[in-house]
Amino acid sequence: MNDDIRKVIIIGSGPAGLTAAIYTARANLAPLVLEGEPSSTSDQPGGQLMLTTEVENFPGFPEGIMGPELMVRFREQALRFGADILTVKVSRVDLSARPFGVWVGDPDAAQPTHRAEALIVSTGAQSLMLGLPNEVDLVGHGVSTCATCDGFFFRDHDIAVVGGGDSALEEALFLTKFARSVTLVHRRDTLRASAIMQDRARSNDKIRFRWNTVVDELVGTSRLEAVRVRDVTTDEVSDLGVSGLFVAIGHRPNTDLFKGQLEMEDTGYLVTGPGSRTNVAGVFACGDVQDHVYRQAITAAGSGCMAAIDAERWLESVGDHEMSTEVNW
Ligand code: NAP
Repeated sequence: MNDDIRKVIIIGSGPAGLTAAIYTARANLAPLVLEGEPSSTSDQPGGQLMLTTEVENFPGFPEGIMGPELMVRFREQALRFGADILTVKVSRVDLSARPFGVWVGDPDAAQPTHRAEALIVSTGAQSLMLGLPNEVDLVGHGVSTCATCDGFFFRDHDIAVVGGGDSALEEALFLTKFARSVTLVHRRDTLRASAIMQDRARSNDKIRFRWNTVVDELVGTSRLEAVRVRDVTTDEVSDLGVSGLFVAIGHRPNTDLFKGQLEMEDTGYLVTGPGSRTNVAGVFACGDVQDHVYRQAITAAGSGCMAAIDAERWLESVGDHEMSTEVNW
C-alpha cells in the first residue's frame, strides 16, 4: 500500500473522534485526526465540550471536570498511542472511490491533501443560538444548551427556556426537577412541540409561558443576571429575573461536507447502521453528527469506540489487495 495513504482518517475531534483515535491508534492503524480550526464555530477542535464549564456526568470524574480540560485529556491519550493530529479544517471529501480523498485548503485542487482507506466522520453538531452579542461568553455562566448537563446547577433557581419545539418542552420538563420555576419563552402563541409534550408542560405547575416573546438581551457580564424580553405584539420590554437561560431552538449537524455523498435524514443527520456504518463502505460515523437523540459526551465517546472497531474489522475484512486496486488518482 502507498505510504502516503492512511489506513484511517478521522474528521473531527470531540469525544467521538478522539475516542475513535485512541482505539484505532491502539490497534496500530496510525490514525490521522483532522481536528478542525479554532477560528471556526462549526468545527472547533474539541467540539461542544470546549464551550462548556463543569462536566459532572462523565463517568470516572466524581469531583467533576471542566469541559475543555476533559478534551485536553482525550487528546493527550490519543497522542500517547501515536495518533497524528492536525489543526486544520477539511474543505472537501471525495468518497466515490477508495482510497477516499480529503482536501484541506483549496477545495478545487486537483489532488487531495490526504487519502485514506477508511474514514471516520465525527464532525459533531452545533446547538443553534440566538445570536446575541454576549451569548457565547455566558455559556457555562448561566446560559446553557443542555439541561441534562447543567440542570443540576440550578437547584431552586428561577430559570427560562427559549423555544417552542419538543426540545424546549423536554428541557423545561426536565428542569422542573431542579428549578423553582421555569419560564418558557416562545416567539409565537402556538407551540411546535407534539401534543403529548404540550399537555405535560401545561399541566406542570412549575412551568410558566411567555407567549409572543423574544429575547432581546442577556443582562450580566461574568454571569447571567436577567433576560431582557420583548412582547412582539405590544413591543413592551421587560426583564425576567432568571439566573439560567436554556437555549433550545434546535441543532444543526455539521454535514455540509458530505452532502450528495453520504445518506442523511431530512434534518441533515447522517444515517448509520448496522453499528457506525454509513451507506459508503469504509466510511463510518459517530457522535452527534449521527445522533439527535442522546447528544451526550459519554454516548459520543461510546459511538467513537464503535466506529474504531467497525473500521478496524472492515479494514481486516477487505485486506490491502482489494483496496489498492481501487485507487483512481
Ligand atoms: P424544532 O422542532 O425545530 O423547534 C425549534 C423551536 O425553536 C421552534 O419552536 C422555533 O420557533 C424556535 N426557534 C427557532 N429559531 C428561533 C430563534 N432564533 N429565536 C427564538 N425561537 C426560535 O427543534 P427541536 O425542538 O430541537 O426538535 C427537532 C426535532 O427533534 C423535531 O422533529 C422534534 O420533534 C424532535 N424531538 C423530539 C423529542 C421527543 O420526542 N421527546 C425531543 C426533542 C426533539 P417556531 O415554532 O416559531 O418556528
